[in-house]
Amino acid sequence: MACSSCSAPNPKSPAPGFRKALWIALWVNLAMFLVEGIASLQSGSVSLMADAIDFFGDSANYVLSLTVLSMGMLWRGRAALVKGITMAVFGVIVLARAIWVLQSGITPEPLTMGVVGLMALVANVVVALILFRYRDGDSDMRSVWLCSRNDAIGNVAVMVAALGVFGTGTAWPDLAVATIMGGLAITAGVSVVRHARKDIEGAKQASVSSASPEVR
Ligand SMILES: [Zn+2]
Repeated sequence: MACSSCSAPNPKSPAPGFRKALWIALWVNLAMFLVEGIASLQSGSVSLMADAIDFFGDSANYVLSLTVLSMGMLWRGRAALVKGITMAVFGVIVLARAIWVLQSGITPEPLTMGVVGLMALVANVVVALILFRYRDGDSDMRSVWLCSRNDAIGNVAVMVAALGVFGTGTAWPDLAVATIMGGLAITAGVSVVRHARKDIEGAKQASVSSASPEVR
């Protein structure tokens, strides 16, 4: 679902294979972002589009984790800022699309929704199992668990919406789920932006004080 709880684990002493695991996680998430995005356009399902935002956000997290060694705090903050803004913009696009679908009276195709929702769930469970080996300490374990749980809730919500569309022959279960998830994506995006701005500010101050250590 909304990715505020999602961040890739960053073990203090990365085990061999951790980078490879991050790469696998990145490709799976990018692929599912595209699959859900295309499926949402083809099926007319807005909740699939909303679920795709999470795969985008998680892909960005894995890019950030993979570049953690080569990038300074300032650039990490800037990258997170771009990620947060993009997530919020995607959320707004989802809400706009929901309004457009509502007015055009399109009923989404429930079979595609159900199948792609299930694929997304499988992808998230596989990535969680791959990364779980590399968790570092209780808080990291908790964040992997929370993230996976929230992602799974989003995937299941899409499948429930598919059942609802199938049962009612209307778009409203899809639009209801899409509106909630789009709203959550905006909230998550805004909170990512807030954190990123704090990090950027902190990094700038740290670089100022390290440039002139005599000034206290
Ligand atoms: Zn996520």
